[in-house]
Amino acid sequence: MDRVREELYRLIRGEILERDPLGNRTTYRIGGPAKFLVCPRDTEDLGQLNDFIHRRGLPKFVLGGGANILISDQGFNGIVVHLKNFDQLIFDGSRVVAGAGLILDQFVVACLRRGLAGLERLSGIPGTLGGALRMNAGAFDAEISDHLVSVELMDYEGRYLVLEKSKVGFGYRKAPVIKDTYILGGTFDFPASFSEELFTIREDILARRYERQPWQYPSAGSVFKRPPGYYAGKLIEDAGLKGRVFGRAQISPKHAGIIINLGGAKASDVMELIRLAKREVHNKFSVELELEQELIGFDGCLSL
Ligand SMILES: Cc1cc2nc3c(=O)[nH]c(=O)nc-3n(C[C@H](O)[C@H](O)[C@H](O)COP(=O)(O)OP(=O)(O)OC[C@H]3O[C@@H](n4cnc5c(N)ncnc54)[C@H](O)[C@@H]3O)c2cc1C
Repeated sequence: MDRVREELYRLIRGEILERDPLGNRTTYRIGGPAKFLVCPRDTEDLGQLNDFIHRRGLPKFVLGGGANILISDQGFNGIVVHLKNFDQLIFDGSRVVAGAGLILDQFVVACLRRGLAGLERLSGIPGTLGGALRMNAGAFDAEISDHLVSVELMDYEGRYLVLEKSKVGFGYRKAPVIKDTYILGGTFDFPASFSEELFTIREDILARRYERQPWQYPSAGSVFKRPPGYYAGKLIEDAGLKGRVFGRAQISPKHAGIIINLGGAKASDVMELIRLAKREVHNKFSVELELEQELIGFDGCLSL
């Protein structure tokens, strides 16, 4: 490992952290350490890192704002790639070029301030723009892909690509073509509107989110995707699981589609509740709940 370490430090110009506690980087506040967490400085640095990872056959994972992932208590025994330095934001009339490392809500506010409409209903979604593009994040009938023109990325072969939106295959909480890539940013084209009106909508959305969601506790938002024709939270509630506790994790009494960390929860506590919800909803309603959140560092030892 010392050779690997030395080579990593020699090749990469960006920040490298060792045994970084990933729990501090997730909204669940759960997860063990990363062997290495690397923040490439630019595209060239990322290319070097990607090449190194593949040459050495190391496991890798791209971390955004950690708002849609559950990291195992053991952590991640490989390289966590964090693209926080890809944070450019360029306005050119209705066109906006934005980096994947931007905090999504800050990006939303910056656009609203300039009277650019289209992101106001995404107000308050945690995470980065990169994570939002990867998940096609959305709320209140709006999605991040709505006004997207193209996505900038690097594939795992190290090729830099710009993909038009129509080539990405965006769907409900999915972006299949860019799933296994480094998303570097996106270009958007927003319709013009009045900033004040957009902020009024934003305030309304934030109030509705606050009312519906258990903001007082760490969570990663909805655990499951919405099954066609149903709401995951309603099914879990109807299965009698609202408020169910395992260890220090709980199916939120406010919104049964969300699992909260009551303080000191382990990933294994959350996993128990995930399994329970899937099993009970399947037994009672014959509906298969599909995870929206991604599981990191569990190494296939999962049987959901
Ligand atoms: C309180 C709360 C409320 C939420 N409400 C909503 C909501 O209303 N709507 C909604 O859609 N989501 C919601 N979420 C979930 C979450 O905010 C979104 O899924 C968000 O887009 C995740 O972004 P992230 O940067 O945190 O991604 P992460 O959680 O860090 O990663 C998610 C996935 O994206 C990948 N990824 C991240 N960045 C990149 C990149 N640059 N390149 C390649 N892959 C990348 C990761 O590898 C992982 O597979 C909520 C979460 C919380 C905690």
